[in-house]
Amino acid sequence: MGAGPVAGAVSIRKVSKTYDPDGAQVVALHECSAEISAGEFVAIVGPSGCGKSTLLNILAGFDTLTAGEIYLDGMPLATVDSSPRPGPDRVVVFQHGALFPWKTVLENVMYGPVRQKILTKDEAKRKGLALLQRCGGLDRVASSYPAQLSSGMQRRVEIVRALMNDPKVLLLDEPFRAMDTVSKTTMHQHLLEIYELCRKTIVFITHDLEEAIYLSDTVLIMTTRPGKIKKVLRVNLPRPRALEMMSSHVYIDLKRQAAAEVHEEAKKAFERGEREQA
Ligand code: ADP
Repeated sequence: MGAGPVAGAVSIRKVSKTYDPDGAQVVALHECSAEISAGEFVAIVGPSGCGKSTLLNILAGFDTLTAGEIYLDGMPLATVDSSPRPGPDRVVVFQHGALFPWKTVLENVMYGPVRQKILTKDEAKRKGLALLQRCGGLDRVASSYPAQLSSGMQRRVEIVRALMNDPKVLLLDEPFRAMDTVSKTTMHQHLLEIYELCRKTIVFITHDLEEAIYLSDTVLIMTTRPGKIKKVLRVNLPRPRALEMMSSHVYIDLKRQAAAEVHEEAKKAFERGEREQA
C-alpha cells in the first residue's frame, strides 16, 4: 500500500457472453468494451439483468466469455480460447460476506497468503495487523469473531483480507446492497479512505446511482440486456470526497444524466418483458 498506481489497467474489448442453458441462448453481453486505467475507481451501473455480474464474473476468472478479450496490463486475461482463471491479482468482495465464522478477524485476514505459501504465519500476522490498523483502526477487533461484528465491519474486514494478496484489481459486487442508508454512508467513507491508501483499480457494481457517482472516477452505464457500455460519465469531483459534494452542481448534473440513461434502459427492459409475456 502507499505507492502510486503502477498496475491494474483493464482493457475490455468487444466482450460477448451467451449462456446456453438447455439451448435457451441467453445473450447477456454483446460487444461490451471499456478501458479502465491503473488505479481508477470505476462504477458499473445498469438495469437489473443487464449483465453486470456476468462481466464481473468474467473479469474475476469465474466464467468464460463467448467472444472478445480482456487484457490486464497488456497481458491477456480472458480470451475465447482460455479457460477461466481466477488469480490473486483480482479479488472479489461480494454482497454476502464470506469470512470463516470459526476464525478470528486476524486469522481470516492471514488465511489466504499463508495457505498459498506466499507469506509465513509471522509475516502474515504482521502484515494483517498493519493493514487492519491502517484501514480505520480495525486492529482493535483482530481477535473478535465475525459474528461479533456488525455487517459493515465484516465487509471492511473482507476488503482488508482482499488487500492482503496485493491484488491489482479489487472487484466489488454490490457490497453494501443490503445495508441501511446510515451504515452505507459510513461504509462509503471507509471505502474511500481505503482507496486513498491503496489506490488499487476498483470495479464496483451497483444499482445505486448516488453511490456510483459519489465513490468513483468514472461511471460506466450499461444498456439493457444484451449489455454493453452505453455511456461513460467522468466524475469531476475532487478527492478526498466529502458528503457536501452531493449537493454540488457537478454531482446533481451527473445524477440527472445517469438517471435519465438508466431509466431509458430500464423502460426498454420492461417493455420487452411485457412483449415476451404477451
Ligand atoms: P445483472 O448483474 O446486471 O443483474 P446478470 O449478469 O446477473 O445481470 O445477468 C444477465 C443476464 O444473464 C440475465 O438475463 C440473467 O438471467 C442471465 N444469466 C446470468 N447467469 C446465467 C446463467 N448461469 N445461465 C443462464 N442465464 C444466466
